[in-house]
Amino acid sequence: MSADTAGAVLVFNAGSSSLKYQLVQPDTGVVIADGIAERIGDAGSSMTHEQNGETVTESVPLPDHLTAVRRAEQFFADNGTDLVHAGLAAVGHRVVHGGRSFYEPTLVDDWVISEIKRISTLAPLHNPANLVGIEAARTLLPDVPSVAVFDTAFFHGLPPAAATYAIDRAVAAEHAIRRYGFHGTSHEYVSGRVAEFLGKDPAGLDQIVLHLGNGASASAISGGQPVDTSMGMTPLEGLVMGTRSGDIDPGLVLHLNRVAHLSVDEIDTLLNQRSGLRGLCGENDFRSIAALVDAGDEDARRAYDVYIHRLRHYLGAYTFGLAKLDAITFTAGVGENSARVRADALEGLQRFGIVLDPDRNAAAGRSARRISADDSAVEVLVVPTNEELAIARQSAALVADSAGGQP
Ligand code: ADP
Repeated sequence: MSADTAGAVLVFNAGSSSLKYQLVQPDTGVVIADGIAERIGDAGSSMTHEQNGETVTESVPLPDHLTAVRRAEQFFADNGTDLVHAGLAAVGHRVVHGGRSFYEPTLVDDWVISEIKRISTLAPLHNPANLVGIEAARTLLPDVPSVAVFDTAFFHGLPPAAATYAIDRAVAAEHAIRRYGFHGTSHEYVSGRVAEFLGKDPAGLDQIVLHLGNGASASAISGGQPVDTSMGMTPLEGLVMGTRSGDIDPGLVLHLNRVAHLSVDEIDTLLNQRSGLRGLCGENDFRSIAALVDAGDEDARRAYDVYIHRLRHYLGAYTFGLAKLDAITFTAGVGENSARVRADALEGLQRFGIVLDPDRNAAAGRSARRISADDSAVEVLVVPTNEELAIARQSAALVADSAGGQP
């Protein structure tokens, strides 16, 4: 066992055709290695592994996730890390939907696997892929405890008024229909970092977190507990996203089916993969959209305006929903990097005590930083998210607790 891997956590984030992994020390946050397998099950599959300051990318046939996990194990071995004997504390898995069953990090056993399978109807695009990652890790590392960390968990305690859809209550109860919320690991981690950054007790903080990546969500958090969030029963609700529509009139779905004769699966693909920014202007990468806006492209301008309009809508709603507002925080790819989005989202809000400092906002950075003016009543921050570290910490803590609880 090597000293630098003892107690480390291997974090898996398995998608339908990808597998991201990271080996990280939960206490220090030191990343020992990370990698990604892409286009699993496809002709053009490839893997990238980064360790000891070196990045290796190779085209390699990856018929399934287990093959990708085995190839990752080989990459680790090539760099002197024998995963089986590395003294890992846990393998931590991101699982998108916990349904009604799971709202805490959970040690994986056969029952947990069957239960995650059962609730896969709530997240057919995500949970089956997450499970494949779990099964591959258990095959490879049978002696290391696997922990499932659910994207919905943080929002389990949403107040009923925010969690409930106004539909027939018996139908909702029978089919587990409620607002679950997603990106919970990120919202919890970032809101905790905000309290640390400000040197304040989280119990006294009212804040809004804007997680703006390819997927995007907003949350209102009071005293460390979520009071509202923009994603719902699935990650389709809320903000405009890279390829997802966010909020729409549900009547539109009926119309597409009855009048446009699209099947349910076609509507699913339309709303999840061909809508949002991509649907409006053909692009979902924010850097390309910004370049198109600058070049005068009208579709990109419209897409950008719709994106900002929806963001401000949620900012307004959440500001009203909180007793006071101490901080607004931007995170994830767009939130951390796009000064333009941050400026346009908060334009003209001085009357609510929200004042950006244009130079601070324009300055690039990789760490948590304040971008509001000194005289802003509300702190505006950029805080990089780190879901892998949060999963590693929760996994290690659970394993330590369960070991401590044994006779
Ligand atoms: P996810 O994890 O949801 O796939 P990320 O949090 O990695 O997404 O965010 C991806 C988004 O971040 C993309 O739209 C990308 O264009 C955007 N992004 C990354 N870097 C920049 C940048 N420098 N400026 C603007 N947008 C950026």
